[in-house]
Amino acid sequence: MLIKNASILFGKELDFIANTDIKIQDDKFQQIKSNIRPSRNEDTIDCEGLLIIPGFVNCHTHIGDSIAKDITLNRSVDQKIHPVSGAKAVILKNTDKKYLATFMKNSCYSMLNKGITTFVDFREGGIEGVSLLQQVVSELPLRSIILGRLEFYQNSTEIKKNISLPSDKINELTQLLMKCDGIGISGANENSSSVLNYYSQISKIRAIHSSETTQSMAVSKKNTGISETQRALILKPDFLVHMTHATPNDIHAATKITRGIVICPRANAALAEGIPDIELMQKTGCIIGIGTDNVMINSPDMFREMDYLWKVTMGIHKKRIDPREILKMATVNGGKILKKDIGVIENGKLADCIFIDKHALDLEPMHNPYASIVHRASESTIRAVMIGGKIVIGKI
Ligand SMILES: [Zn+2]
Repeated sequence: MLIKNASILFGKELDFIANTDIKIQDDKFQQIKSNIRPSRNEDTIDCEGLLIIPGFVNCHTHIGDSIAKDITLNRSVDQKIHPVSGAKAVILKNTDKKYLATFMKNSCYSMLNKGITTFVDFREGGIEGVSLLQQVVSELPLRSIILGRLEFYQNSTEIKKNISLPSDKINELTQLLMKCDGIGISGANENSSSVLNYYSQISKIRAIHSSETTQSMAVSKKNTGISETQRALILKPDFLVHMTHATPNDIHAATKITRGIVICPRANAALAEGIPDIELMQKTGCIIGIGTDNVMINSPDMFREMDYLWKVTMGIHKKRIDPREILKMATVNGGKILKKDIGVIENGKLADCIFIDKHALDLEPMHNPYASIVHRASESTIRAVMIGGKIVIGKI
């Protein structure tokens, strides 16, 4: 396929090119330059008026709780989402899997319509939970990275005694990992150092929630004497999620040891937990990705996430983050954190992208494409979404 006369945000720096052609072969961007001649019988599409940006990489979701939208709205974080005692855990356990799957699928369609081409789900429910999500995504073009977990949570006494992972759980873990892309741990507070250390030897993706709430920070200090992030780093995680209350030392250590931090600003705000220190993360050279977290708490919409992040950081700190950097967090950085050929329009990368209508009512005249995408674009300004070289939503 040959795309002619498109504006694009090219490469890892999302450089704006006003007019160029893109050749797509198989599932990849093969060539990007102006005046490419079509080969014989090649589909040629004139994309005048469209801006092509990389597909969004939603680096942190729990779509399993899509059935529980806005329940327990005024309860504490633990009452909502504690992995053992929270309302979410009870609902996931007691609801017919068929109903869970229906609403998980709806969230996948919602993400596709909003230009999310890859999502990383922290799937609860052990092997069964992973299988259910796999079944849902198998019928959809959306790319999924499924990080499973054992339904194995230790209490403070077991953590203090540093109890190891029991042998039946070791076997279960081996089977779980054969079915998914890695492990997404609920947090260091439910795992002894010995268990975290065992998980650190997993050769697939390792990720963990960390320093999400003031309460989880306090629990870690009380039970172990050290910070939650310091303990989370025992996992040697590829990335950490949240870091809302991380100390400067935690952020420095995370930047050194991990590939990046995934922030979930709207979910943190919805739980009245504040906003992570993005400025310090940027100063330390940390790669920042964005996730929309639980569907129960927040909508899986990266446009809203970027808009909110931009405004709330300006509102609180009276400082601007470059909107280009925010757009990178939603695209390029996700590819870097996950070490996948996604999130960037470049030769050889997977052809996942969004075709934005530059003449949309909300966008024209587009004086700054980065600001336009970050705080004006929405599902309604998308003309089409492409995954792996195929148009999966809309038409060009
Ligand atoms: Zn989460």
